[in-house]
Amino acid sequence: MTEIRCLCGRIAPPIAVQAAVEIETNLRCSPPSGCGMVIPHATLVSLCAKPLSRKCHPDTSAEAAKSMVGKVRESQIRALRFVKENPGKTANELASIAGDRDPRTIGRRLGELAKMGLITRETPRVCSMTRRVATVWSPITGV
Ligand SMILES: [Zn+2]
Repeated sequence: MTEIRCLCGRIAPPIAVQAAVEIETNLRCSPPSGCGMVIPHATLVSLCAKPLSRKCHPDTSAEAAKSMVGKVRESQIRALRFVKENPGKTANELASIAGDRDPRTIGRRLGELAKMGLITRETPRVCSMTRRVATVWSPITGV
């Protein structure tokens, strides 16, 4: 994955870049650490459209580690897509929409996405699935 550096010098988190490319959204150099500048989706695609890195030394353990990282990243992008398509839902509601049997899986991803500054916690409310007060998640809008 190509490193995307903003004009302010901040390097965009690779997951944020990949997510923005895949869900066709703009990438924002998000405050407070970033300057707030928006990198349009088309720019991201052209920046990321570089040949894939060559595999010089096929190392099975490294490959396995990479595929684990890939799996987590894939499920993060999936979770992010659900939040973008269904803003204002709880983890259990999102899991229900996604058809996940175990809501903890998507719940874990939501926490990670929030840390990356891609989604945000809103005022908790009663979850329609569990009938308990739960955190509500929404995407951080690109512009
Ligand atoms: Zn910036």
